[in-house]
Amino acid sequence: MAASEPSSGQRVLVTGGAGYIGSHTCLELLQAGHSVTVLDNLCNSSPESLKRVESLAGRALELVQGDIRDFDLLRRLLGSPGGKQPAFDAVVHFAGLKAVGESVAQPLAYFDNNVAGTVCLLRAMAEAAVKTLVFSSSATVYGDPASVPISEDFSRSATNPYGRSKLVIEDILEDLYRSDPAWCIARLRYFNPGGAHVSGLIGEDPQGTPNNLMPYVSQVAIGQRECLQVFGGDYPTPDGTGVRDYIHVVDLANGHLAALRALRQDDGQSGRFLTVNLGTGVGVSVLDLVKAFERASGRSVPCRVVARRAGDVAACYANPALAKTLLGWQAQRNLADMCADAWRWQSQNPQGYRQSAAQAHSDGATR
Ligand code: NAD
Ligand code: UDP
Repeated sequence: MAASEPSSGQRVLVTGGAGYIGSHTCLELLQAGHSVTVLDNLCNSSPESLKRVESLAGRALELVQGDIRDFDLLRRLLGSPGGKQPAFDAVVHFAGLKAVGESVAQPLAYFDNNVAGTVCLLRAMAEAAVKTLVFSSSATVYGDPASVPISEDFSRSATNPYGRSKLVIEDILEDLYRSDPAWCIARLRYFNPGGAHVSGLIGEDPQGTPNNLMPYVSQVAIGQRECLQVFGGDYPTPDGTGVRDYIHVVDLANGHLAALRALRQDDGQSGRFLTVNLGTGVGVSVLDLVKAFERASGRSVPCRVVARRAGDVAACYANPALAKTLLGWQAQRNLADMCADAWRWQSQNPQGYRQSAAQAHSDGATR
């Protein structure tokens, strides 16, 4: 195969693959013919997500339960230096903590898990000569953007420790590439992921009270929460509520496959360093999203406008042009698809994956 052709059948290590975005990406990887090993410590996920991924794909993956900060484990997993061929062609790195409020209360936990964890992973990858990495960055690195839509060359800043952990990792990756241009690295800046796989079998399963709008709205629609608090009705936006770029999680997952293909292009010898927004380019307000969810679910979502949430910006949406140019990727699904899929997941799995785990436990107990 010519080096410029899209690669297929890669061996991919997916850190954090049992989580929300990771599980959807594992499914797309399996369906595209790649082989998948997940490394996840399950601190914010359930192995049930991966069982469902396997059943949807009709293929197995490997789950290694462990931590990205465990250097010896990574060494064993990635293959020994020098000697044998590396065990993987690429790593897609999702593992990390992501709750903004928690990061303010526990900054060291976030720097340890996200930054030190990534450094540990990169050291093991370098040693095993596995030098292809797709990294989950975030639109949070744009801080309070000077204007919208946001292009990749906008200035970056952090407003909380979570965002700072992403900024620091982005910089580490740039330094690494400068030191050794054989690396192939994609920094993907996600806007606001939402929705679920169209089957309704996998989706977002927040522990406790959801921090993000979409899962919160789902839980109000199904009656688990009474009312959505709309954080701020006086922003300089068309209806006064915050505007974001909601991207369907399956589109997002496919962005990772596009990045893996792009990293394999050119002569196959030299490295690449890509920084790309993954968003739709469409700004959607809180009230727009609520209305779309009500239409998709046929349920009402009571709302009450309250004070702004500290640290929130008025509007944040992507200029997605570079993703199309560099990755040949653009979002295929719209807000109505996202709400319909999120609702299917929510209504079929009102307790998320916990239902299945409880079911399995009670089945086991009666046997
Ligand atoms: P998630 O919490 O559902 O998935 C993260 C997974 O990583 C979980 O399965 C968790 O158990 C695992 N994990 C955490 N720390 C680990 C460690 N030290 N070792 C091994 N596994 C570990 O989150 P998600 O929404 O799927 O996000 C995935 C990535 O995308 C994260 O890095 C997140 O910061 C980034 N991101 C998410 C969003 C979003 O809104 N969901 C937006 C932008 C960027
Ligand atoms: N939001 C809201 N109520 C909630 C959660 C979020 O009004 O319970 C708003 C929030 O102020 C922002 C938008 O919804 O304008 C998206 O918030 P989310 O936390 O999902 O994403 P982020 O702020 O990280 O972009």
